[in-house]
Amino acid sequence: METFEKTPLTTLKRLPDRGRFDRKTVYSILDEAFICHVGFVADGKPVVIPTGFARDGERLYIHGSAASRMLRDLSGGIDVCLTVTLVDGLVLARSAFHHSINYRSVVIFGKAELVDDDRQKMEALRLFTEHVIPGRWEEVRWPNEQEMKGTTVLAIELNEVSAKVRTGPPKDDEEDFSAAGLGRRASTEYDSRSARR
Ligand SMILES: Cc1cc2nc3c(=O)[nH]c(=O)nc-3n(C[C@H](O)[C@H](O)[C@H](O)COP(=O)(O)OP(=O)(O)OC[C@H]3O[C@@H](n4cnc5c(N)ncnc54)[C@H](O)[C@@H]3O)c2cc1C
Repeated sequence: METFEKTPLTTLKRLPDRGRFDRKTVYSILDEAFICHVGFVADGKPVVIPTGFARDGERLYIHGSAASRMLRDLSGGIDVCLTVTLVDGLVLARSAFHHSINYRSVVIFGKAELVDDDRQKMEALRLFTEHVIPGRWEEVRWPNEQEMKGTTVLAIELNEVSAKVRTGPPKDDEEDFSAAGLGRRASTEYDSRSARR
């Protein structure tokens, strides 16, 4: 299927026209970013942990030390929610209220599965490396048996997924156009990526 099916969990309530469910958009966001935030409940309390990830077709991999609470808890099959965010620009409006950010983000719901097949685990580690620095896998020593043992890899199937995208200029109120002295740098899209270079 070309699109993810909307579910009660992934139906956007605010500004639903910004919602995207086509796989092309979702995958392009996931493939550009390499940090996600993993939300789960541990000992009855919500926790959100930043971590790296890589996509392989219709699944995401996360990995880390076998001693990590996040990986240990998630491998028990509990519910997990992952988010991925790309910031494309700051949106400067004439009013404080209409300031915004151009962004592309993805929210994923599911459960994680332990990857215990060595071949698949090594492939996931290759994908992590290549995702961040393409070509790097061929330049480094690959994980040895001991390193493989100390590393946990989890897979999350991409089934329940939404993307949300904001683009374009600010939405100024009509009366703010005529107000004297408002916003010398107003009504512009400010490309935060090039500004930081
Ligand atoms: C950009 C980035 C990429 C990362 N990539 C990976 C990865 O690929 N694999 C991996 O295993 N880990 C990664 N980490 C580290 C990850 O965020 C956790 O710190 C790590 O998984 C250790 O988990 P734990 O089970 O020891 O922590 P927990 O026992 O789950 O954490 C206990 C407490 O420590 C604090 N804590 C833990 N991590 C952080 C943090 N990052 N920032 C602030 N407070 C924290 C929190 O208060 C948390 O409740 C990454 C972190 C960042 C910021």
